[in-house]
Parts: sequence; structure tokens; C-alpha cells
Amino acid sequence: MTSDNDTAPQTVVRLHDVRKEYGDAVALDGVRLEIAAGDAVAVMGPSGCGKSTLLNMVAGLDRATSGSVHVHGQDLAGLSETGLALFRRRHIGMIFQFFNLIDDLPALDNVALAAQLTGTSARHARRRALELLDELGVAGRRDTYPAALSGGERQRVAVARALMNRPALLLADEPTGALDSRSGEQVMDLLIDLNQIGQTLLIVTHDRDLATRCASRLVELADGRVARESSLDDLERSA
Ligand code: ADP
Ligand code: MG
Repeated sequence: MTSDNDTAPQTVVRLHDVRKEYGDAVALDGVRLEIAAGDAVAVMGPSGCGKSTLLNMVAGLDRATSGSVHVHGQDLAGLSETGLALFRRRHIGMIFQFFNLIDDLPALDNVALAAQLTGTSARHARRRALELLDELGVAGRRDTYPAALSGGERQRVAVARALMNRPALLLADEPTGALDSRSGEQVMDLLIDLNQIGQTLLIVTHDRDLATRCASRLVELADGRVARESSLDDLERSA
């Protein structure tokens, strides 16, 4: 883990008084959040409360209006657009409600591409992609295009893609929102397993069950502010 400024090495995410405005609308208003390496944090709250905006700030997909966002020791405000894109590819994995796979690439190439974009050779990228698909139980679908995969398989392929570059942080925006309950539970279990082997997670979800099973900490947003933050360590996990 790198740390080239004042962020402690084991702090993967630090949001300080983050405000985000879209025109007259305030999507985030004074959000503070710290995530240490190995943490699993769930963000909950009603539709429109700023969950995706928060994730996009952390991913460097959008910039804060004011306040600071540090990820993996880097102040994101100090990066150009190109710098942000490179930073994201190297250090952040993302999964989405609707998978965001590339329709005209088979599963293996969807996963391998993530590493090829950071300069890994095609041969190495494909080898690691196959290992990940195997670990996630979808190696048999390597040559299948996204349209022919089930929802659960698509999300497994998307998780493999997100893990390709061994990201410091895995971000998930409603990862089970488009899945039937059984596939959703499998993806949930996958995220729990990943966290147990040390993967730092930030998960946005509507689903309290997902949040309490996957996360050690729950952040509840309301109208762009942190309304409540609670530790789930003492609660019995149903996993
Ligand atoms: P959530 O993910 O919790 O449903 P969002 O973060 O998507 O909420 O949105 C928070 C608020 O910011 C909403 O009022 C939404 O309409 C607004 N918003 C989000 N993204 C944009 C955008 N690109 N342009 C304008 N308004 C936006
Ligand atoms: Mg959202």
C-alpha cells in the first residue's frame, strides 16, 4: 500500500466534509467517512439520498464541489482526468446493479480487458482472468457473451473483472439489485468471502439483509448527510 501524503497507510478512504452540488441541487452535504483496510462498509438510505454520488466521489468518477477525497493515500483533487482514470484502473474495482459488461466480448475477454488496460500482456491477462472466473465458479462460461449469461453469472463475471488488478478497494452499487434472491445471496456470499480474505469493501444497497451480512459498519444517508453510523460487529451475522 502506498502512502505519499498525510493519510495513514491503513486508511483506504477518507472523505472530509464532502459537498456535491448539481446546479441548485445538493447531493452530498458535509459527508465525513473513513474506511480502513479490511473494512466492509455498507451505505444505505432512501432513493435519491446521495448513495451513488458518494460512491462516484470515491471512485473519482465525479469531483466534489468542496471538501476532500483521499483514496489509497491519494488526494483525488490532485489528479487530472487522465490521472483519475489511471488511478481507478489500478486501485479501484467497481461492480454495478446492471453489471456494465461489454456486450460484444465473451466473459473471459470482459475480465481480461481490465488488466490489458493497465499494460498487462494479453497472455497474462487471460491467464489471470481464467483463474478468477474459475474461483468465482464461472470458468465454464468463459466463451459466453453477456446476453447468454444469467444475471448471477453476469455479476460473477463483473466481480472477476473488478478484482483483476487486485484493487485496494472494491466498490459495489446495488450489486444484488437486479438479481433474483438466490443469485443475490450467492453474490452476497461472494462479497463476504472476499472481505474475509482482506478485500476492503464499500457497498451501496437498499437491502438491509445484504448490509448486515456483508458489512461491519453501516452508514445511513438522508438528504446527502450521514444520519447514522453504526457498527455491526456485535450483531450476530446470519451468514
Ligand atoms: P441514490 O443513489 O441514493 O439514489 P444519487 O446519488 O443518485 O442517489 O442522487 C442524489 C441526488 O443528486 C438526487 O437528488 C439526484 O437527482 C441528484 N443527482 C445525482 N446525479 C446527478 C447528476 N448527474 N445531475 C444532476 N443531479 C444529479
Ligand atoms: Mg443510486
